[in-house]
Amino acid sequence: MSAGRPFGYEKDRLTVAGVDVAALADEFGTPLYVYAGDQIAERAQMLQKAFAAQEHTVCYAVKANSSLAIMKMLGGLGCGFDIVSGGELERVRRAVPEALGKVVFSGVGKQAWEMDAALKAGIMLFNVESEAELEVLAARAQALRITAKIALRVNPDVFAETHPYISTGLSEHKFGIAIARAREVYGRAAKMQGIEPAGVSVHIGSQIRSVEPFAESVKRVRALVEELRGDGMDIRLLDAGGGFGVEYGNAAFDPAARVAEYAAALLKVLDGAKVHLLLEPGRFLVAQAGALVTRVLYTKVNGKKKFVITDAGMNDLIRPSLYQAHHEIVPVVVSERETEVADIVGPVCESGDFFAHDRSMAEVRAGELVALLDAGAYGMSLASHYNSRVKPAEVLVSGGVARLVRRRETLEDLMAGEIL
Ligand SMILES: *Cc1c(COP(=O)(O)O)cnc(C)c1O
Repeated sequence: MSAGRPFGYEKDRLTVAGVDVAALADEFGTPLYVYAGDQIAERAQMLQKAFAAQEHTVCYAVKANSSLAIMKMLGGLGCGFDIVSGGELERVRRAVPEALGKVVFSGVGKQAWEMDAALKAGIMLFNVESEAELEVLAARAQALRITAKIALRVNPDVFAETHPYISTGLSEHKFGIAIARAREVYGRAAKMQGIEPAGVSVHIGSQIRSVEPFAESVKRVRALVEELRGDGMDIRLLDAGGGFGVEYGNAAFDPAARVAEYAAALLKVLDGAKVHLLLEPGRFLVAQAGALVTRVLYTKVNGKKKFVITDAGMNDLIRPSLYQAHHEIVPVVVSERETEVADIVGPVCESGDFFAHDRSMAEVRAGELVALLDAGAYGMSLASHYNSRVKPAEVLVSGGVARLVRRRETLEDLMAGEIL
């Protein structure tokens, strides 16, 4: 399989790092998320190597896939973490407590209890998204007598071509503080007790596949860093955000070449800036490493349309429903059957519960397995219990060995928090 994926065929059987995918489905059941740990590690190291000439930390964006096992693996490679909630902070604490000092806390709606937990944990940086938040953070820092190191997340007003739901860098979006106003807000922050301006942060969106918008926004941020230094602030951290994209279709994709291009563009803009660079990749590290393996329950024909109904639904992988996202869908065991056009849908009671419309693929029959590729990012982390369905199990394959890293939920788990 091309386009940078770790899944491929050995004879007629889908494998990942030498492990037979059908055997995993038989052992652990379906729907099942399968991740290639070695690819995740390789992608993190690809970034670390490309930025070797620049002091930096790769802070994995936990929301892309918050598996503790994956976080532990990335922590072991020296990664920090970009978190957006107190829950994600707790995940860092459990998976990689030694990395708490490399945590960046992003998000437009941080609550006081989350700030308290992060202050006590000694995180590296709060990415503050509004003046109102800055005031609450200052109050919490004063109450706890812990200094909060902050960056303002500035909105650079740079357009990045991506889906409107995952674009964030324009002034019309809810994220950040307009870069034109940032200097004034930093001035106020510098005078606040408990607040120490230490960085500038930017994040322009997700699934961005050209380097120009990244370079343009970092260029604007660098100019601001220099202005703030001129104002006497000790700005050391430049957080370039995440959003580095992958290819979901079958277009050629050489991740190492893309990373090299990205690094070259950023390093050029940063030349001589004397900052510690933070990168917050999520999708790039995990998307292509994961597949959702599902079994066909039924097929049926309604009028002119053929439907393939799988045991995975939108509650397991919502990206097609939410963002009209494309996922390649491939057989786990290749057949010699004719190609047909079908809708691949889940069992959830919503017409929006689909994985693909009018997809052309070799006929699949009830009982057979298919894999939805590139499902490692924003797959399991967006899974829900809708229709009272339990969340799938997750398997991590590393060094040719498969390990269950999250067991399938039970009906007991499903109702655990409820009171009758
Ligand atoms: C979601 C997010 C990321 C990660 O985005 P990807 O597209 O998965 O790389 C990084 N930083 C911030 C602030 C985010 O909100």
